[in-house]
Amino acid sequence: MAKEDLECSFCGRKKPETNLLIAGLDAHICDRCIEQAHGIVLEESKQSGNAELSSELMLKKPKQIKEFLDEYIIGQEYTKKVMSVAVYNHYKRLLQPANKDEIEIQKSNIIMVGQTGTGKTLMAKTIAKMLNVPLAIVDATVLTEAGYVGEDVESILTRLLQVADYNLEKAEKGIVFIDEIDKIARKSDNPSITRDVSGEGVQQALLKLLEGTTVNVPPKGGRKHPDQKFIEVNTEHILFIAGGAFDGIERIISKRLNMAAIGYKAASQDDVIDSDNLLQYIVPKDLKDFGLIPEIIGRLPVLSYMDPLDAETLRAILTQPKNAIIKQYKKLFEMDDIKFSITDGALDFIVSKAIEYKLGARGLRSLCEEILTDAMYELPSSKEKKLHVTKDYAEDKLDKSTLKRLKAVS
Ligand code: ADP
Repeated sequence: MAKEDLECSFCGRKKPETNLLIAGLDAHICDRCIEQAHGIVLEESKQSGNAELSSELMLKKPKQIKEFLDEYIIGQEYTKKVMSVAVYNHYKRLLQPANKDEIEIQKSNIIMVGQTGTGKTLMAKTIAKMLNVPLAIVDATVLTEAGYVGEDVESILTRLLQVADYNLEKAEKGIVFIDEIDKIARKSDNPSITRDVSGEGVQQALLKLLEGTTVNVPPKGGRKHPDQKFIEVNTEHILFIAGGAFDGIERIISKRLNMAAIGYKAASQDDVIDSDNLLQYIVPKDLKDFGLIPEIIGRLPVLSYMDPLDAETLRAILTQPKNAIIKQYKKLFEMDDIKFSITDGALDFIVSKAIEYKLGARGLRSLCEEILTDAMYELPSSKEKKLHVTKDYAEDKLDKSTLKRLKAVS
């Protein structure tokens, strides 16, 4: 067959009518058909990607979400339950077909109040892992109002885009964890005295993002610049989880509780207030009294608290979660064929030191590092194939290490 008689097996165009005609085993395809086919492939993969997300999300009921959280997070029963429901509702809302007549389901953004190191970030990370959606962790302290030194609130979305590898669709269904939200609380009770650059202004700027809006986001971050190309990000389906320690909020809670007790006769016998864990009585008004503006509180409608970590919980954190610290060390040693074991006494000792130095859960890791560094340095090049850590061993290693340094961390 003459070259010019060859034709595309898909659209029938002759070779001279095409820019390119590629030969297969028994057929030919022209450049136009390739492009069209490519479009179809993209569209298909988009849809199957969505379907994947939908089926995955619909599979998990709140109880199953909680079971997943249980594998990674010790205690914090209340937050795990509240979080499971909020996440379930959020993604149910997301999967709801767009229909103007339908009742619109409000976003279930979450705010978690609890001391540092009690697992707030871990909670957000575990949810994102379960849903297989991108998670951006941002620190509210670096945010400032547009025009001031610091980052615009849009930078939050830049971060999310980066985590999602610039896949806009994925990013728009992702999760943003805003840490240290308490640090943008209004500093003074009178909002008009001075400009509160890093406080109320940032809260105002955050409002729109939380609620759901379309934002022009500089893809590489930095300040908005007229010449820069923007990516339009819709925050309607992004789940926002905020966390903060809210140091001193216990005073606000206790004051409110005492007032209530005086105002309406003493609480009944079984209504005794647990003064060791006042956060459990938190209500949105306490956040307002702390300095969050009512609009922000309204857009973070799910309020939860983290329990302080007692010795029993810290002990469990060391050994129980799916990727518990001790399990991680075991695995690390195993890679060098070293059998690692640790006694109950040593574990209790580590917990007692974490409490003594007020290091919380975060300190468990630093303590383990201090105790095990020598062994991790020596053993891989020695003949010894086991490490048995007793309380004496742990005590000895910690004595030698600079405990003061650990103390300085707290
Ligand atoms: P926060 O965000 O509240 O300051 P993180 O989530 O960063 O605290 O917790 C610090 C570390 O402590 C985590 O990496 C995790 O290993 C551990 N941790 C804290 N709380 C828990 C918990 N309830 N269950 C399991 N691990 C925890």
